[in-house]
Amino acid sequence: MPAETVVAHERRQPGLRQLDVLVIGMGFGGMCMLHQARAAGLDVHAIEAGGDVGGTWYWNRYPGARCDVMSIDYSYSFLNEIQQEWTWSEKFAAQPEILAYANFVAHKLDLRRDTSFETRAQSIVYDDDRSVWVIATDRGQDFEAKYCIMATGPLSVPKGLDMPGRDAFAGEIYLTGRWPHQPVDFAGKRVGVIGTGSTGIQVVPVVAEQADHLTVFQRTPSFTIPMRNNALSADYMAQVKAHYPRLRTIARGTHTGGVRPVSTRPMFSVTTEEIQNLLEDGWIQGGQTIFGLFSDMLYDQQTNDVVAEFVRGKIKQVVKDPHTAEILTPRGYPIFTRRPCLDTNYYEAFNRGNVDLVDCINEPIEEITVTGVRTSAREIPLDIIIAATGYDGLTGAMMAVDIKGRNGRSLRAKWAGGAHSYLGLMMEGFPNLFMIAGANGPSALANFVILNEDNASWILDCIIYLERNGHKAIEPTAESEGEYMALLTEIAGKSLIPKAKSWYVGANIPGKPNFFPIFAGGFGRYADMCKQAALSGYAGFTLDRQDALVGR
Ligand code: NAP
Repeated sequence: MPAETVVAHERRQPGLRQLDVLVIGMGFGGMCMLHQARAAGLDVHAIEAGGDVGGTWYWNRYPGARCDVMSIDYSYSFLNEIQQEWTWSEKFAAQPEILAYANFVAHKLDLRRDTSFETRAQSIVYDDDRSVWVIATDRGQDFEAKYCIMATGPLSVPKGLDMPGRDAFAGEIYLTGRWPHQPVDFAGKRVGVIGTGSTGIQVVPVVAEQADHLTVFQRTPSFTIPMRNNALSADYMAQVKAHYPRLRTIARGTHTGGVRPVSTRPMFSVTTEEIQNLLEDGWIQGGQTIFGLFSDMLYDQQTNDVVAEFVRGKIKQVVKDPHTAEILTPRGYPIFTRRPCLDTNYYEAFNRGNVDLVDCINEPIEEITVTGVRTSAREIPLDIIIAATGYDGLTGAMMAVDIKGRNGRSLRAKWAGGAHSYLGLMMEGFPNLFMIAGANGPSALANFVILNEDNASWILDCIIYLERNGHKAIEPTAESEGEYMALLTEIAGKSLIPKAKSWYVGANIPGKPNFFPIFAGGFGRYADMCKQAALSGYAGFTLDRQDALVGR
């Protein structure tokens, strides 16, 4: 739907680039937003800290990197041409293929033309008098935009290797989230992998095959399920392409925003024997099957315990050394309440003669030395350290920038107790500042590509509404934001997810408030709420606040 009027600017400060819309971040959310805003006739530009498009898939080039959402879900639906022209080769695509896809889309839509790469926003400040955002970047190329769109991603600020002695290490250190563009040679090397979340679990089996010796430093063991990836046949992809519109509609109505089967059956509605058969079948099928077996897996502790015990049994079956199996066995938190992992030969890697496991709960890392890692019990010599230590998730990228809203209000102050917004899209006090896949949406519980697309469409519709109706600014009311956050918290309280110490609740970052900010009510319900918010004529929002107009 093209905007009828392009936003008018008073060109007051030469030297600044003045825009209708600035998009920050050119991962999957920003790419789609830039295209849609430009197609609507808006004067839009994007900035991106990386050297090219792709977001997480640009940075995460580590060995074994692969998406744990099916390719046919984890892809754009907003332009039929894209989904018809692109053919996925695997059920779960590897990073190079996903990055190639991002490049294909960027090329097809000519997105680079309107993007400044290697450009990072340093401050984003609202000018109340002129109702514009002033964005200062680290390249000296600054912007003013009526609308500022944060497409900065939930996992874009790596935690890094925050251990004493890091700089003394004489070998090579690699962060998975900042992996070099050239291949890293592990042959003949003693390698240490620190971290066993979704990332570490992907790195370990691949590096184990290449390195002379691999030491895995595990603090909290993860539950992981075999991915059982497979190639997609030409026939299968032809069928998917023929039915894409219907598949996308189905995906949008589900809890996760994907087409995988999800059961409405609570566990104890079937017999003990059937439960075990279903779990066995889920393990054999692999991928996401097991997550969808029982409707109460994340809500009922007893159900959760049965699934957890089943997976613990599998670890014991696969890992030959009982002591290693025991260290790898997660206890003390409900299964799948930390991000569920999908692996390819992770537990099997510990049966190799060249792989050792260090239990960092009982033998914590004390420091990095010149020659390796010193734990509380010994020094382990290494040539390469791989830090798969995770991210300052959900809020890290927003809090990294100095964002000041109406009347100089600071986002860091507003979010001091945790992310707080309406629908994960907008915040009271921050007019015309939008978030794509923001912390309070379904975020990591949903398919990010569909979420990105839907958020981008909602934002564009909102901008068009404002322009057509002659409004200067929109922001949620404190009431609608408060009610939404209360609903989010109520839903979260029914789920087992907040029981685990994970990046979902900020537990991995010292000093971060313990708060689960994600909407856990399902993608379909969230999408309906967003739709209703717009259809109501933005009833939960204030348009052109009077105090913002003072002095004009
Ligand atoms: P993560 O899940 O936060 O895992 C970080 C790991 O590093 C944890 O095992 C953590 O242990 C460990 N760690 C951190 N500091 C440590 C220290 N000082 N000493 C010892 N261990 C330390 O991070 P991630 O694996 O990068 O995954 C983050 C998210 O990215 C995932 O949950 C997922 O959403 C996404 N992801 C997706 C895919 C995929 O699609 N397949 C792949 C990779 C990542 P503790 O838990 O004890 O702190």
